[in-house]
Amino acid sequence: MRARLRYALDRRRLAMSGLLAAARHGLAAARHGLAAATAALAPPACWSCRAPVAAGQALCSACRAEVRFLRGRCCPRCGLPLPCGRRCPGAGSTLDRAWAPVAFEGPARALVHALKFRGALGVADVMAAQVVATAPRGLLQSPAVLVPVPTHAARRRARGFDHAEHLARALAERTGLEIARCLVRGGKPTRQAGSSRAARRAPGRIDVRVRGDPPMSVVLVDDVHTTGATLEACGGAVRRAGSYTVCAVAYARALS
Ligand SMILES: [Zn+2]
Ligand SMILES: [Zn+2]
Repeated sequence: MRARLRYALDRRRLAMSGLLAAARHGLAAARHGLAAATAALAPPACWSCRAPVAAGQALCSACRAEVRFLRGRCCPRCGLPLPCGRRCPGAGSTLDRAWAPVAFEGPARALVHALKFRGALGVADVMAAQVVATAPRGLLQSPAVLVPVPTHAARRRARGFDHAEHLARALAERTGLEIARCLVRGGKPTRQAGSSRAARRAPGRIDVRVRGDPPMSVVLVDDVHTTGATLEACGGAVRRAGSYTVCAVAYARALS
């Protein structure tokens, strides 16, 4: 009798947790849908200065001209303009190459925030266009496979989408490269802002796991390359799991 009662209670608890999870997911999806609907109804505005723009434009012409492309020679290990410092931040990196087309500042920063925090998914295609137009020869070519840097599951649920995955999809459409979602984040979400550079780069702090066999040639995709700690954790994970070539492409590179 007691066992049946416990069984019934467990079933009820399970059903409630399922309902709660569905409700949480529904809320995130509804919030995201509402943001997208509001964005669609509002007259199009520049994501950086809010000036009116033509439909489908993410930035006004003045802000477009302000995007700082890293056109000069950049360090292939860390992606910073050369000289990249007394000691390259990418020295000893698990990445064969790190590259980003623009500096993480001004209108480029506004685009990153629009995608990540405002759910402006169309912005991913604007970023992808800038990446593809300026990518070094051979970087985004087969047999490379795009691997989005994973967002923590809790963040993904709260936002209702994964920004790096949207950027990877937009890149795949423009390059014909395949996508492999072979990385997942473990542990608890941590806030990188506020922690020291050394702490952010400490090995083991970012828990990334590989699901299945990773591609032989990987191009990690993320919106911003800041300290490189997350990219490094992802690069180490796929390399330990058998990837031979591991590069990283971010839309924007933080210069300091
Ligand atoms: Zn503008
Ligand atoms: Zn360097």
